[in-house]
Amino acid sequence: MPDLFGETEPGVAEVVPFDGGARAYSYSVPAALKDTLQVGQLVRVPLGGRVSLGVVWKYPAEPLVGTKLRSIVVLEHEQPVMTPDCCKLAEWMAGYYGCGLNSVLETVLPAAVRKGVRPVLRRMLSLITPPEAEALAKMRRKAPRQAQLIDFLSAQAEPADRAKIAADLGIGPSAVAALIAAGMIKEVTSVQWRVAYDDPFSEGETVAAAGHILNPEQLAAVASVTETLDSKAFRAHLLHGVTGSGKTEVYVALIRKVIAEGGSAIFLVPEVALTPQTVGRLRSRLADLGAKVVVWHSHLSAGERFDAWMAMSLGQARVVVGARSAVFAPLPNLRLIVVDEEHEPSFKQGETPMYHGRDVAVMRASLLGAACVLGSATPSLETWKNATADRYVLNTMPKRVDDRPMPAFRIIDMRREILHSKGQHILSRELVEGIRERLQKREQSILFLNRRGHSRSLVCPDCGEAVQCARCSVSLTLHRTNDTARCHLCNHQERAPVVCPQCRSPKVRWKGYGTQKVEETIAQLFPRAKVARIDADTMGKKDLFRQVLSDFRAGKYDMLLGTQMIAKGLDFPRVTLVGIIDADLSLQLPDFRAAERTFQLLTQVAGRAGRGQLEGVVVVQSFQPASDPIQFAKRMDFQGFAAAELGKRSEFGYPPERHLIRHIFRGRNAEKVHFVAEAWVKELERLHPGVAEIRGPAPCPFEKIQDQHRLHIWYLVSGVKTFLGALLPLRAKFLREEDVIDVIDVDAQDCA
Ligand code: ADP
Ligand code: ZN
Ligand code: ZN
Repeated sequence: MPDLFGETEPGVAEVVPFDGGARAYSYSVPAALKDTLQVGQLVRVPLGGRVSLGVVWKYPAEPLVGTKLRSIVVLEHEQPVMTPDCCKLAEWMAGYYGCGLNSVLETVLPAAVRKGVRPVLRRMLSLITPPEAEALAKMRRKAPRQAQLIDFLSAQAEPADRAKIAADLGIGPSAVAALIAAGMIKEVTSVQWRVAYDDPFSEGETVAAAGHILNPEQLAAVASVTETLDSKAFRAHLLHGVTGSGKTEVYVALIRKVIAEGGSAIFLVPEVALTPQTVGRLRSRLADLGAKVVVWHSHLSAGERFDAWMAMSLGQARVVVGARSAVFAPLPNLRLIVVDEEHEPSFKQGETPMYHGRDVAVMRASLLGAACVLGSATPSLETWKNATADRYVLNTMPKRVDDRPMPAFRIIDMRREILHSKGQHILSRELVEGIRERLQKREQSILFLNRRGHSRSLVCPDCGEAVQCARCSVSLTLHRTNDTARCHLCNHQERAPVVCPQCRSPKVRWKGYGTQKVEETIAQLFPRAKVARIDADTMGKKDLFRQVLSDFRAGKYDMLLGTQMIAKGLDFPRVTLVGIIDADLSLQLPDFRAAERTFQLLTQVAGRAGRGQLEGVVVVQSFQPASDPIQFAKRMDFQGFAAAELGKRSEFGYPPERHLIRHIFRGRNAEKVHFVAEAWVKELERLHPGVAEIRGPAPCPFEKIQDQHRLHIWYLVSGVKTFLGALLPLRAKFLREEDVIDVIDVDAQDCA
């Protein structure tokens, strides 16, 4: 039929279907949807022989000449589930991390959203400008229904449900329409929201709500980011502030400004469960603005996730605090993304798409023309390089608030200490004395050891072997709590052996120590001290962690002993001693970032000391006391450390000099894995000579995990996209071996 209205082409939209949509496909748009269809909405589309749910990706899109398009079947519901900038972001991720769009969307969108659950939307009424007394009196006579509605709404603190008003008060649509037309009331759509902005994180650890008067350094940082916000153009800032310099107050001031101006903000933290204090502070400092804060954490149910997502999409909640996946929040008018502790490796996702939440945050802000603030006392060298090369604005806060001193570092040379110690070899004399003093003065201590369990490994003097997990290439750790030997890679556990499993020798000995043994040692030395141990073994229950922290704050414990769970962001004013029991652990990591990780860990853990009025001391025990990270951490010289370390990195062409792409091959058959990886490298070098500096294949540091043999190849490249442009098509053709799996990790953080 000829189109009488001059439209020769039907509308075309691009849609990414969730089932099998590695990319966007074009569809024609039914007439009924032509005017209303929006990017980010959910639709059903035909794909192959099925009908799949998908997201509208581009609309209007270019018509495809000479192709007969299939049509969108139905609009699932009106509320968009993605913002247009997030569609662009997902596309960038698919390209940069080398994976399909559908796998990106599995990460971006909560499961219930992808399944097409419909939001329960309510239309809510609220008063904007009530009529003057005289007008109201007149209204009472002429339009009593309208007056009744005005009276009712005046008495409500929150917007009221329109359907409920109609049912309870019998006020019809014409009265509502008249008042809306007169500008006295307004209608907004809201979603029924199960979660809670007051979720469990508000209990346990609540921290004083009062704001502080910002000091000059804080004000300067706020002013600098404010300039970016006001310019409405993208800029990334690095807020480099020592521990206790008051970074959180800077974030809060910026978020408050954004909220006051009608915008929204994302606040990323390494792990919500481990940073309850930050969440509590943020929430209480935003409460007076009436801004609802979504706390996006792993304990939310699917339904809660869905509701929170929709509430953000509707603009009902304008701030989200969460771990990396909160970076995709569908907030309209997003103006600020904060990434606190930006150096933390947990911002990198360990499975496909292996994205880095910090890098995605910077990219999203740049797509939006928003501000991105990366904060840390120990910035990653990647970020530091960007800041010193003027790609990011550098805002520095070199001092603690109120001129509180930085803690003093005491480095203990454990080689000498061992010669002098009687009995136990775990705690140095100085650390023991320090603890004793704190107990006497009723101050608190934190002891840090990044290894859980009791003893590290079972060694046999007769056959010389350490007992390994049957399925992984690591030794088993003794757990005294139930006398098991456990594998920390695959969680396998067995009764702790009493004879060598290899040669049956009864002379086997447990060597090395973990948090459980330290706990025993402290109990022997200080039988009356109240010690809370915090590690993955004690903190199984989700609320326990916050409860213990809150009890520690209340003074119910003298000492906190724990793994990296206690390294981050905690602020306890009565802690004056921090002991780092084995500073060498992270130095020994088989990773080119070992020095960087050690420097970060020492500085962060040390930063827990002396945060209140009392001065703090940090005791660091090490067998390599002269090593760079320990010495620079002692002098609190981040810049010195960064300069030295960057020098070494560039010698080898390691990040941040170039990008590291790690290509892992794994499978049950070791020979086959070797064969495929070797053949692959040959093929890549033959077809794309010089496309990257290639190292390997070589066995991964964890050569075997759960019976999977693992090899990796490193590619060092200057441009990720160019390299993947060569690698991916070849990989699609070449790597089809079924029992060898390969994974590509762009900007790998974990090299084990
Ligand atoms: P950081 O995140 O940089 O380690 P925090 O934001 O946790 O530092 O601040 C450290 C402590 O100082 C907190 O207890 C905080 O309440 C307090 N604080 C922050 N800003 C100020 C200020 N301007 N005046 C006084 N105290 C402040
Ligand atoms: Zn043996
Ligand atoms: Zn194992």
